[in-house]
Amino acid sequence: MSDYILSVIPADQQWQPSRTAADRLTALATELCPRIPNGTDVRVDATWYDALTAVDPGECLESITCPLCTAAIDLQWWADLLEDNQGPTFTTLATTTPCCGGATTLDTLHFDEPCGFARFELAIWNADRESFTPTELATLAAALGHPVRQIRAHI
Ligand SMILES: [Zn+2]
Repeated sequence: MSDYILSVIPADQQWQPSRTAADRLTALATELCPRIPNGTDVRVDATWYDALTAVDPGECLESITCPLCTAAIDLQWWADLLEDNQGPTFTTLATTTPCCGGATTLDTLHFDEPCGFARFELAIWNADRESFTPTELATLAAALGHPVRQIRAHI
């Protein structure tokens, strides 16, 4: 069985909340995310990462294009990168593109489905919703005390 994950991450890649702020975010996200009728319970996990970690859309990701030459980047290159980094954590986002050999950073690649890098993630598993509205994101940001982004994943 596959899982749908809706993740909330800080807009600033390096930012990490206090436990109290994360608890406020968890409580609000839990309130906003009903369970799927007859489905399993919604699970909300808060995770602090030691290093920058890719919050990847998984099977939702269909294409990546190069910000330098606009060529399509092989999804296998991305998958290998996540595996090589085991975690998938990164000490640096600096990279060399496989298409044109240009120097860029991973967070500037054009993902067709948003992908994020963060040191904190609130992952909401199998909720009966695909995403948060801009208004809800603003209330989540207020609970956390920091602007947030959302990443949808199917794994
Ligand atoms: Zn390129």
